[in-house]
Amino acid sequence: MSFFGLLQDIPAAFVVASLILGLMVGSFLNVVIHRLPKMLEIGWQQQCAELRGEEPAPTSPYNLMVPGSACPHCNHAISAWENIPVVSYLLLRGKCKGCGTAISPRYPIIETISGLLCAYAAWRFGFGMTAAGALLLIWALLALTAIDFDTQLLPDDITLPLLWVGLLLNLFGTFTDMNSAVLGAMIGYLALWSVYWLFKLITGKEGMGYGDFKLLAALGAWMGWQMLPLIIMLSSLVGAVVGITLIVVLKHGRNIPIPFGPYLAGGGLIALFWGQTLTQGYLKLLAVP
Ligand SMILES: [Zn+2]
Repeated sequence: MSFFGLLQDIPAAFVVASLILGLMVGSFLNVVIHRLPKMLEIGWQQQCAELRGEEPAPTSPYNLMVPGSACPHCNHAISAWENIPVVSYLLLRGKCKGCGTAISPRYPIIETISGLLCAYAAWRFGFGMTAAGALLLIWALLALTAIDFDTQLLPDDITLPLLWVGLLLNLFGTFTDMNSAVLGAMIGYLALWSVYWLFKLITGKEGMGYGDFKLLAALGAWMGWQMLPLIIMLSSLVGAVVGITLIVVLKHGRNIPIPFGPYLAGGGLIALFWGQTLTQGYLKLLAVP
């Protein structure tokens, strides 16, 4: 039996394979989360220098592959066995082998979340295109959440390809039909764009960024316009609870922006897994007897 035949015939094998793949990709996501904002910043600085008519300063290559992973504290190069998701963190007891500086627990946490969500998606959808798509969506949303949390940015390098891939998958009706996907992308963008301008006209402040519109457009492309109300409701609900908690408990300033991307991503994930059930549930509640 071939490897893929095995995954297809034995659901447990598919779940375990997805767990391992999720852990490994989670490790790569840590690199993306750490480096992509820096890569963007380097690019912007070079563009600014060009606009000012300056020769761009020669820089050593910095991308997702180069330079290799190293301890930010002592520059100790991280070998393959120190790079096994979660396991290495536990074996090293959360410390750099070179200098003993604590390694952020965020690395194994992102790996674990990625692994568990992928295993759940494999179990929920079974072997096939839907599960493969779900894995891609999980990874993109995880990276966007962490990057937005760190930098208040939702890079186009992730949101735009996510939108195109959603449309592509739905050419084959993977998550919804093509009409719903195209309308979902348009309405998703316009919904938050309208809220943004309304909020800006009334208060003179910017409540969210263009990245948020693109992310909701992408989620609409993946799941269809029918899921948009649910995604907005869920993300506003979680956003309100977390936001109020931050303001009350941590005395987080009311004017410090709270990124909205993580809540949109969370709403999107909930819609991916339980959207159909939840939508039917609230339609039943609204239905006149
Ligand atoms: Zn070190």
